[in-house]
Amino acid sequence: MAQIIDGKAISAQIKEECKEKVAALKAEGKSIALAVIQVGNDPASSVYVRNKKRACEYIGIESISYELPEETTQEELLALIGQLNEREDCNGILVQLPLPKQIDEDTVIRAIDPKKDVDGFHPQSVGALCIGQPGFLSCTPAGIIQLLKRSGISIEGKECVVIGRSNIVGKPMAILLLRENGTVTVTHSRTKDLKEVCKRADILVVAIGKPKMITREYVKEGAVVIDVGIHRLEGNKLCGDVDFEDVEPVCSAITPVPGGVGPMTIAMLMNNCVESLSLS
Ligand code: NDP
Repeated sequence: MAQIIDGKAISAQIKEECKEKVAALKAEGKSIALAVIQVGNDPASSVYVRNKKRACEYIGIESISYELPEETTQEELLALIGQLNEREDCNGILVQLPLPKQIDEDTVIRAIDPKKDVDGFHPQSVGALCIGQPGFLSCTPAGIIQLLKRSGISIEGKECVVIGRSNIVGKPMAILLLRENGTVTVTHSRTKDLKEVCKRADILVVAIGKPKMITREYVKEGAVVIDVGIHRLEGNKLCGDVDFEDVEPVCSAITPVPGGVGPMTIAMLMNNCVESLSLS
């Protein structure tokens, strides 16, 4: 039977560590605050924002909350980001994506001071990651590295295959695995013979956005399978990009959905907030 990689327990551990660090910083008279900006009231975004604020409260990070109307202009949002960049009492700035169509996400991401870019999406953060300089790491891939390390799974020398090449998951994931000395292959919708490429993987990271697409035909016996996908099925049940029931018997370790990668994203966001103090 495969080891079930427990993202809930590992994320709780990371949040406890963050809480202790924040308490120590407070004892030195320092404070820490995260600005959370939501534009419009997309229900899924509201849930994510609420969870992020709750995590801040638990850890002792103040959240400075902005709920802006759907019709907010790009100029208004950029003006707010400009003010927050200047505020010394604001350590991190998070703009919940997606944004309404009148606002260009890239322009907004670039407007955030890289020292406050706790999502790790700014081109400077991405560039720093690529050349191994200090900077914020994109939360989901950084969380996956923690899941592997804290589950006793070594990456060095392993064949790692990442399915997906998005800017927020696939690409930073590949670079982080490379940084851990994995031998990395990135696949995407134009990859020829995806099954054969995936079957080479000792560690298979799936970020494809297609419910239950990855069956045991894509998985080498004994591989570690990390499922980034999250989808809500009829009846409100959640599933990932991996067909868990089919794959679990053939792999050595696997993340469940829910309770695998998902909880790690917020934990790593909190970790980035704590780190923002050392970058500011
Ligand atoms: P994107 O849609 O941005 O990227 C999907 C990637 O998968 C693309 O690179 C695409 O290739 C590739 N792809 C699509 N179809 C195929 C196929 N048939 N064969 C091979 N490759 C394919 O998704 P994200 O990276 O943003 O997210 C992936 C999943 O992870 C989603 O389910 C999302 O909800 C989830 N997610 C979960 C998070 C969490 O915290 N747990 C955080 C972020 C995302 P191409 O580039 O060629 O189009």
